[in-house]
Amino acid sequence: MSSAASRDRRRIVERLGAASRVLLVLHVRPDGDSIGSTLAMAAALRALGKATEVVAPDPIPPNLAFVPGAGAVVDAGATRGSFDTALFLDCASLDRIGGATADLERAGPILNVDHHSSNQRYGEINYVEPQAAACGEVTYDLIRALGVALDVEMAVGLYVAIVTDTGSFRYQSVTARTHRIAAQLLGLGVRPAEVAERIWDNRSLASLRLEAAALRTLEREGELAWMDVTPQMLAESGAAAYETEGLVNLPRSLEGVEVAVLFSDEGRGEVRVSLRSTARVDVSTVAVSLGGGGHARAAGCTLGMSLAAAHAAVLTAVRAAMR
Ligand code: AMP
Ligand code: MN
Ligand code: MN
Repeated sequence: MSSAASRDRRRIVERLGAASRVLLVLHVRPDGDSIGSTLAMAAALRALGKATEVVAPDPIPPNLAFVPGAGAVVDAGATRGSFDTALFLDCASLDRIGGATADLERAGPILNVDHHSSNQRYGEINYVEPQAAACGEVTYDLIRALGVALDVEMAVGLYVAIVTDTGSFRYQSVTARTHRIAAQLLGLGVRPAEVAERIWDNRSLASLRLEAAALRTLEREGELAWMDVTPQMLAESGAAAYETEGLVNLPRSLEGVEVAVLFSDEGRGEVRVSLRSTARVDVSTVAVSLGGGGHARAAGCTLGMSLAAAHAAVLTAVRAAMR
């Protein structure tokens, strides 16, 4: 850890130590890292005697509702009372909290704990570890630094954060330390097969039908591959928008592919773009140039244009980055 990061962590620990009511905020379309890190952190703060509330700008996907504490998460705008501290985990920029902005008006200064290289350092204190494979690793360190003894419920949250953001320990971001932390979490009682089964082996028939329809749009151009989701596919399959999560891994898995893109048009006048690379191309630079953000190997943006225009804009930028 850099000395700047260790100083920032010390400052966060001090501020959380002095806090008594903490508002924790999930990011839009919350993923396993956002949910797992935030719920583990909320439990750790309660163990220190703090009052906490967790607010979600979008619903928690059903396959992540098993994470301990998920049942107490409230919708944006539904928090009550006021907070002396706001804590964001896994949130690269302020606009990633969507409709939870209203809840923030009754909260104190923002503490920003993250692992995105594109993090915009919007907090009063910013503790960012870009080399961490998941915000769950940063959260693990923070909970330890707070002197809280991890219990099995916090461990499940942290394990979910790490196993989802690393693609089950497969991505370039994974280190020996990622595995050492995971080993600690298993030692606390996490059952990895049970967690994996709940997250990945509980798919709806509609989501498999959506995958089949999306695969029919698969295109390849050398080391670049892409796929679409259209409003018609969502309507015909009956899949929910959150069920597009993970589809980008299909073009990514094609032999010889370096960059994979999923274009998801959910019929709201915008296209959500997911970018992945396997070894070489920094897709976060591409995403940032289009108004989004992320990591070198996983990034995204949302474009207010048609699917055809999004294809043109993104594929041009990706081809340039691949040269
Ligand atoms: P996704 O493709 O949605 O799984 O997102 C991959 C990564 O890109 C995540 O780490 C997100 O933080 C980031 N990301 C996705 N969409 C956006 C966006 N519209 N703005 C900023 N960052 C994004
Ligand atoms: Mn996330
Ligand atoms: Mn993350």
